[in-house]
Amino acid sequence: MTANLPEQPGIDQQARNVPLDAHLHTDQSPDSSVPIDLYAAEAVERGIPEIAITDHVDFDPRDPAYRYTRYEDRERTVRDAAERWAGRGVTIRFGAELTYNRLWDADVRDHLAKHRYDYVIGSVHDWPESPYWESRVRSFIAGRTLEEILEPYYTEIIAAARTGLFDTIGHLDVVRRYLYPYITTADLAKREDLQEPALQAIIESGAVLEVNSSGLRYPGNETYPSAAVVARYRELGGERVVVGSDAHSRGSFAARLDRSYAHIAAAGFEALTFRRGEQRVRIGVPRDTPISTVDALHT
Ligand SMILES: [Zn+2]
Ligand SMILES: [Zn+2]
Repeated sequence: MTANLPEQPGIDQQARNVPLDAHLHTDQSPDSSVPIDLYAAEAVERGIPEIAITDHVDFDPRDPAYRYTRYEDRERTVRDAAERWAGRGVTIRFGAELTYNRLWDADVRDHLAKHRYDYVIGSVHDWPESPYWESRVRSFIAGRTLEEILEPYYTEIIAAARTGLFDTIGHLDVVRRYLYPYITTADLAKREDLQEPALQAIIESGAVLEVNSSGLRYPGNETYPSAAVVARYRELGGERVVVGSDAHSRGSFAARLDRSYAHIAAAGFEALTFRRGEQRVRIGVPRDTPISTVDALHT
């Protein structure tokens, strides 16, 4: 794990009065210890009426969330909490974040054929043989072009989108975190065309592009994907976006999520696309999103 940027004391970086945070990890993820009720309480306190719990599901025995929890336990915990909090100002959806890779494509299909979620994020993380592993990334980068460096990541993203299995593709461009500090945001900003095949695949698949604010807590200080990529997605014909803080701690609940909303509004989207079980819904993006705080909207 890359070191988190220190939170600025005294400044409330957690969003308020936004309609949805659709990416949250509770103590049913191996890398979080937050009980679900804490997120629910934060949501009520901050005027966020809907949240999705999206704990990790991994498919490689070497990955941390492989059989970390049982589906039945996760479902019961989230559904019970949803009942407890119903009528108190927050609706809780039962989701999951599945780690996708072509290596275990069949297992992902099997899991989703057997289990029902309200909402499913498909994410490409650093997989055990990936060249982005901390011990290998430096030598992998040496002598390769940016295109060659990004290729393994985008190949998996494109494959994930084309499965049609996921409501949403999570934190596109998180690869930037694995490449830091050898490849910087400035290096990547010069070649944003390299993301286009992935954006096209997402558009063609009908999947939703997540604008994940967790990147604002890491060096590079940008959403995944960046505002410029969100704008490019729209230009290419992308119609579906959603937001998530990807919180793994109480303090990162909805953290900097106003930025995700601002990028979406600035790109011209008027609504989020989200799934509530049987129903795919559109949720209006607040008009008063503070876009004045956005640093770089367009290239
Ligand atoms: Zn993730
Ligand atoms: Zn996550």
